[in-house]
Amino acid sequence: MKLIRFGAEGFEKPGVIINETWYDVSHLVADYNEAFFAGDALAELKIAIDKGDLAEIDKSTRLGAPMARPSKLVCVGLNYKDHAKETNAAIPVEPILFFKSTTAIVGPNDNLIIPKNSKKTDWEVELALIIGKKASYVSEEDALSHIAGYVLHNDYSEREFQIERNGQWVKGKSCDTFAPLGPFIATTDEIKDVHNLRLWLTVNGIKVQDGSTANLIFNIPFLVSYISQFMTLLPGDVITTGTPAGVGLGMKPEPWYLKPGDVIELGIDGLGSSRQIAKAFD
Ligand code: ZN
Repeated sequence: MKLIRFGAEGFEKPGVIINETWYDVSHLVADYNEAFFAGDALAELKIAIDKGDLAEIDKSTRLGAPMARPSKLVCVGLNYKDHAKETNAAIPVEPILFFKSTTAIVGPNDNLIIPKNSKKTDWEVELALIIGKKASYVSEEDALSHIAGYVLHNDYSEREFQIERNGQWVKGKSCDTFAPLGPFIATTDEIKDVHNLRLWLTVNGIKVQDGSTANLIFNIPFLVSYISQFMTLLPGDVITTGTPAGVGLGMKPEPWYLKPGDVIELGIDGLGSSRQIAKAFD
């Protein structure tokens, strides 16, 4: 199943995509939130959809992020060898974890607002996953049963705030609009092999990132198990799994950062694509 949320910012309603058509399910489900992912709502929704008549949604409708604001947006850093290399970082021996503020979350095609005083706003196409079942000290063997689905994410990063302003990466990762998620959550049954998905990103039509989840240093079950040794993951929480090579910071001879008017498009096999236009802060 493919889950979407649609409507004006702050007033999104739940919907589904069936054979490319968008449908409203707001009479069946309150929202794709912690309560929804924690219970049997996903299975019940499937049954209700099979039985019921659903109202179609016009595809010109804005999409929001496909989940209500989660308790956490946990990020894995430097999880592709080629990306670690381009940023002159050592290949991590254990996963690098950091947070992104959940207020950074926006819809997949909303504008990117380049933050006030930013000179180094950069892109990162990533595979993200949604927790389905509360996860605390889960084993690698059991980890997949704690995942509800997968989603496309652009982990926008302000490199000066991230690297040159002291302390944790969180400063460069949390600005408003820095976490476009979607277009949809694909439930786990939709993705045959999560470790063999192509992911790509273009800026103004120029392909800058073109990788595969086959090259993840730490794979999905390992990451869920690993993170759950340090914190409890709640249903609806989002984990984003790192970016392959081709970010602006790693460009030679000069880094390449975003400016107003730039168009960023990205996608992952089976998870659709998204498009953001960079705008100046005002
Ligand atoms: Zn990232």
